[in-house]
Amino acid sequence: MAMEFEPKMSSGEGEGRKHDEAYELVIIGGGPAGLTAAIYAGRARVQTCLLGGSLPGGQPATTAGVDNFPGFPDGIGGTELAQRFQSQADRFGARIVQESATEVDFSERPFVIRTDGGEYHAQAVIVATGAMPRRLGVPGEGKFYGRGVSSCATCDGFFYRDKRVIVVGGGDSAVDEALFLTKFAEKVTIIHRRDELRATKIYQEKAMTNPKIDFIWDSVVEEILGDQTVTGVRVQNVKTQERDMVAADGVFVYVGMEPKSDVFDGQLEVDERGYVISNEKQHTNIPGVFVAGDVQDPHYRQVVIAAGTGAAAAMEAERYLGK
Ligand code: NAP
Repeated sequence: MAMEFEPKMSSGEGEGRKHDEAYELVIIGGGPAGLTAAIYAGRARVQTCLLGGSLPGGQPATTAGVDNFPGFPDGIGGTELAQRFQSQADRFGARIVQESATEVDFSERPFVIRTDGGEYHAQAVIVATGAMPRRLGVPGEGKFYGRGVSSCATCDGFFYRDKRVIVVGGGDSAVDEALFLTKFAEKVTIIHRRDELRATKIYQEKAMTNPKIDFIWDSVVEEILGDQTVTGVRVQNVKTQERDMVAADGVFVYVGMEPKSDVFDGQLEVDERGYVISNEKQHTNIPGVFVAGDVQDPHYRQVVIAAGTGAAAAMEAERYLGK
């Protein structure tokens, strides 16, 4: 039988006051997976609240453009795509709040999700917290993060007009963002630890023929150098062991992603890399808690796939709630 539910706010949302709300479904994460789940749940008339975290729209909002999301033959800006997902979720009635889950209790129902703003109670939960850029873990990286070291060309590229930048990595993100950075920078050097790129062929072709891009192959960044801001990097060639300095005003790090699953430690089963384990229907080890998107996907990490698993998770949640 379908459970009847009304959102309950027990202590209001006045300034400085913590709120306490109950929903049938709480979606944790506001990227393509979470927002698609909200569209599906809204259309199924499931009372839904989506905790969108600090980055509305998730990862697409930090990318210049998305060329491979079906339905947009000319590509679409990352921010615009994220906004479109969000307006569609809004249209079907999901409540969207920009809060991040800081603690969860999935030991009994209703499940409890705590944020800095208050506490949410839910009969079902969809975890769609996504992934975040992996750091290099070399000296200087932490010191200069936000002052010359970045993982978001869309956010920070503008500051490098007519300057020299380094991009570290050889995947789609590195090459795509290097191409984006050529709009501003005078020169973009891609430093990659092997002698061939992992990126999709179309990106490789564009990068190889772009006069502003050059490559340093078989090399790893050992240290990010600078004084007040970044002045360059020290690299080592992994084949010859030779070391060299490369001058630059900014360093963009794109060496892969890590799942954002820390907040579920001890409650959800994760693999050795931290990806939440699910069955083929997006169920986690806890009945009533579903998972979607990059936090459970070590393989593809595509917007279209995140959206697809978000839809599946919402349909499973709907079924679980007896809707
Ligand atoms: P990725 O495909 O995992 O590539 C990471 C790159 O960083 C690889 O080239 C890897 O080198 C290198 N790397 C990893 N650890 C390193 C380290 N410690 N030091 C130096 N280099 C290191 O990650 P991604 O580029 O972020 O892409 C993630 C996913 O998003 C992929 O599935 C990708 O297809 C997708 N994506 C798609 C698009 C698009 O289609 N428009 C755009 C961006 C991302 P090796 O090659 O030697 O392993």
